[in-house]
Amino acid sequence: MKTTNIKAFGTEAADKSLKQMNIDRREVTAKDIEIEILYCGVCHSDLHTARNDWGMTIYPAVPGHEIVGKVTSVGSEVTKLRVGDFAAVGCLVDSCRECESCTHDLEQYCLNGWTGTYNSMDKHLGTPTYGGYSEKVVVDEHFVLKVPSNLDLAAVAPLLCAGITTWSPLIF
Ligand SMILES: [Zn+2]
Ligand SMILES: [Zn+2]
Repeated sequence: MKTTNIKAFGTEAADKSLKQMNIDRREVTAKDIEIEILYCGVCHSDLHTARNDWGMTIYPAVPGHEIVGKVTSVGSEVTKLRVGDFAAVGCLVDSCRECESCTHDLEQYCLNGWTGTYNSMDKHLGTPTYGGYSEKVVVDEHFVLKVPSNLDLAAVAPLLCAGITTWSPLIF
């Protein structure tokens, strides 16, 4: 699979500062959307991951799962967004799509294991996933949200994790 080398901001070890590094992103497949990242919130999970507080960080680690940006490329079967649209990505970038949870729009409870935006394994490349502290991201359209163009994009970013964390218990 073809990849593009891009700039990211990540860390190589729990006791190392974040620094600029290069990572590979896959080129869009039929269902993928490529997003130029404009804003990315800083979640405390990013810090826990960078510092290996949960003991499962894959290094180098590129955090960031409150992502907002502009669509720069779409795969041939993408219907949800077009080039130029504003888009957002949260904590998940994939799941099995077949289990009882996934078929009920509860991918976060995927019985076969979801794919996190960072510190997971990319099903296409078989390499670790890297988050939004980077120039761009490539994500299946099922896990991309369309952002209305009249919103303040910097303010939208935290909705993708911090916002949903608050909203979810109020709703359910
Ligand atoms: Zn978070
Ligand atoms: Zn599933």
